[in-house]
Amino acid sequence: MISYMSTRGGESGKTFTDVLLNGLAFDGGLFIPEHWPKFSEDDISHLSGVPYTDIAYKVTEQFIGNAIDKADLKKILNEVYQKEFAHACVAPLVQVGPNAWVLELFHGPTLAFKDYALQLLGRLFDHVLEQRGERVTIVGATSGDTGSAAIEACRHCKNIDIFILHPEGRTSEVQRRQMTTIDAPNVHNIALKGTFDDCQNLVKAMFNDKKFRGDMNLSAVNSINWARIMAQIVYYFTAAISLGSPSRPVSFAVPTGNFGNIYAAYAARQMGLPIKRLIIGSNRNDILTRFFETGAMKCEEVAPSLSPSMDIQISSNFERYLCDLVGRDTASLAKLMNSFKEKGTFSIGPEHMRKARSEFDARRCTDEQTQALMTACYKETGYILDPHTAVGLFAGMQVREDPSVPLVSLACAHPAKFPDAVEKAVGIRPELPPHLSDLYDRTELFTVLDNDLTRVQDFVRSNVIS
Ligand SMILES: *Cc1c(COP(=O)(O)O)cnc(C)c1O
Repeated sequence: MISYMSTRGGESGKTFTDVLLNGLAFDGGLFIPEHWPKFSEDDISHLSGVPYTDIAYKVTEQFIGNAIDKADLKKILNEVYQKEFAHACVAPLVQVGPNAWVLELFHGPTLAFKDYALQLLGRLFDHVLEQRGERVTIVGATSGDTGSAAIEACRHCKNIDIFILHPEGRTSEVQRRQMTTIDAPNVHNIALKGTFDDCQNLVKAMFNDKKFRGDMNLSAVNSINWARIMAQIVYYFTAAISLGSPSRPVSFAVPTGNFGNIYAAYAARQMGLPIKRLIIGSNRNDILTRFFETGAMKCEEVAPSLSPSMDIQISSNFERYLCDLVGRDTASLAKLMNSFKEKGTFSIGPEHMRKARSEFDARRCTDEQTQALMTACYKETGYILDPHTAVGLFAGMQVREDPSVPLVSLACAHPAKFPDAVEKAVGIRPELPPHLSDLYDRTELFTVLDNDLTRVQDFVRSNVIS
């Protein structure tokens, strides 16, 4: 039976429901399965030609166990992957070179791969809350991207109120409209008179106010929630199987920020999917690539790039992989993480680095290289890459040695989400897909509030559905 432990050793024997609702472990660690579920070659062969939703069931039931009724899980997966995604294949493959493919993960409501996990997470949350007769209030701050994915994930949830703060006038128009044009009674957009940091500080302050936190039953849709990783494992299976797994191994190149997406690929490999190379693509914010070069994880200032969803300082999900790398020695992992928190750095010995380098490759891609690849790909194939996708594909092509192994590069956002960078590289302003084509005509709903904790708390209190 599946059970979960904290990477820092303080918790074990947890059920899927525990890890879904809590997100972070009480000792500050992240939840991982105590053992990896395994798929044999035969199991994988049997998934050939099977639709996305059914593969999603086969994968997720391994991680959910008895926590959710099997018939309910099937119903939820159908609702998510057959209704909310604009492509019949959910995550289609497109060829962009000899034995080189792009896995399109932008057919969800907000046009980024985060929909594949958040759409499921929202429904799972709602289902568990319904059974417990509970309600939660989700509060979050966004600089643009994650806010819309979280709102889309919660708009249909009966037991969730969601409040998203964005800095007034400081997000792109597409991003703002994706959040503010959702007309649902449980969705609330706050345009704060302040910066993104002000938004984040107010959210932290609301969580630190114990009475408010308790009264409102505050919760978060975190980037480190295990259920998000689980949902992302599915498309590695569907892609590899389409290209001939289990008899044919496949390599994946993944534009990486928080390490969530590529960690899901690692999980698929631990489960038995034959993955040859796992290739991390970094932009100029290259903490991970530097780690694989030097063996030292070291924070530096974040600098803006053409691929803003990867402009990060810390890759929080990396802790999950590190735990495996040190042989699940949770005490020594906790030491590493403490050193990182205190000094902004930690190092790994040569033995462990040899293992890490045998499991991942990492390459960085400058803004100039990103633009050049977008231009070249369009000239050669007519295919438009978004800047994040270009970073991953660039890394994949740098590492690739054996052209007989299919290279799958993950397309994590629709090019229309980053129209300026795309126009500069290929000379065309990409159009939004049909379900968003009237985005600029829709009515926006948001409330402008001063950067003031009491005002924001009053707003939340008076707008939750009780
Ligand atoms: C979130 C995001 C990433 C980074 O993914 P991680 O799981 O954080 O590594 C890359 N590209 C796009 C478009 C994203 O939205």
